[in-house]
Amino acid sequence: MSVAEERIDRLTELARDAARAGEADLARQYVRRARRIAERNRIALPRRFKRFTCDRCDAYLVPGRNARVRTRDGHVVVTCGCGGHARYPYRRPDSDDAV
Ligand SMILES: [Zn+2]
Repeated sequence: MSVAEERIDRLTELARDAARAGEADLARQYVRRARRIAERNRIALPRRFKRFTCDRCDAYLVPGRNARVRTRDGHVVVTCGCGGHARYPYRRPDSDDAV
């Protein structure tokens, strides 16, 4: 794991903890910092990061608190409190690609 990847990992944890503690703005700062590191280093953001952050407002999403998670026609639809949503296809649990 590269230094950049480790920093992104750490920022993801910080963002999650901040979001759970109700510090939404602080969580956003961590999310933005992690995105910037990924861009600069041209590395992909981990799936965990992409699934739990809003592309529209950079919020760290906590289902039940600032995000709604629903399944629909083979997709998971995550709706952020800002109104932005993201859809992810899901597969059977025995698939390698299952989340
Ligand atoms: Zn949002």
